Amino acid sequence: QPIISLQNLSKTYSVDQGTFTALKDVNLDIYKGDIYGIIGMSGAGKSTLVRCINYLEEPTKGKVYFDGKDLGTLSAVEFRKARQSMSMIFQQFNLLMQRTAEDNVCFPLEIAGMKKKEAREKAKELLAVVGLSDKAKSYPSQLSGGQKQRVAIARALATNPKVLLCDEATSALDPSTTQSILALLKEINQKFGITIVIITHEMKVVEEICSHVAIIADSQIVEVGTVEEVFTHP
Ligand code: ADP
Ligand code: ADP
Repeated sequence: QPIISLQNLSKTYSVDQGTFTALKDVNLDIYKGDIYGIIGMSGAGKSTLVRCINYLEEPTKGKVYFDGKDLGTLSAVEFRKARQSMSMIFQQFNLLMQRTAEDNVCFPLEIAGMKKKEAREKAKELLAVVGLSDKAKSYPSQLSGGQKQRVAIARALATNPKVLLCDEATSALDPSTTQSILALLKEINQKFGITIVIITHEMKVVEEICSHVAIIADSQIVEVGTVEEVFTHP
């Protein structure tokens, strides 16, 4: 059973003149442990797709199954639990600028009701996982892009997610920093068994770490398979 299954998923946005179809009849199965790349040009619908997976956007049609459960029909409690099992990181990191690295990681833990001291311990552990122990007291403005993304990854791991959704997570980074962030994501996938979904417009990101890939163009998935199947041509 896939951990994420999208079935006949469509998403239309209301725009001035009517509606715009950003996703059309998308079907996709992602299995536990996959590093799944979703690649396509700007405007293809990648962000919309990944935001439908955790219901940041509600699909207009079709279903999203997480761990076999239809997200659209869960009780409020179950829905919240499913959503907490999916963390997200972004191109622009989305850190709280007035908080230190450590406090940024503590934030979701405190929201979840963890005691301050306990949250602090866990944040320290997570900053060690991402190789940033020495920057715990630094503010985002004092960190490089790669370091900021490491903080965001630590924050994403705080809630013990099953899935990490990455929306152009390396697009603001230079090539060597991109390499090191991809290596960290691979390590997290292997060490913790976290399924990773990577949205990107860069072929090299997919080739570097993905096990599977879907190509999206004009709101539709046009090709899907293992990276070998999709990128190896006779
Ligand atoms: P990608 O991530 O591949 O660049 P997006 O999913 O961000 O693509 O966007 C796909 C299309 O949907 C784009 O044409 C974009 O302008 C449009 N779109 C995205 N979000 C909205 C929105 N909230 N309202 C209207 N149109 C949107
Ligand atoms: P990304 O870099 O992930 O592709 P975008 O810059 O396309 O993101 O979009 C940033 C935000 O603006 C998103 O929340 C998206 O829903 C919204 N957005 C994108 N395109 C449009 C649009 N044409 N109309 C309204 N909102 C949009």
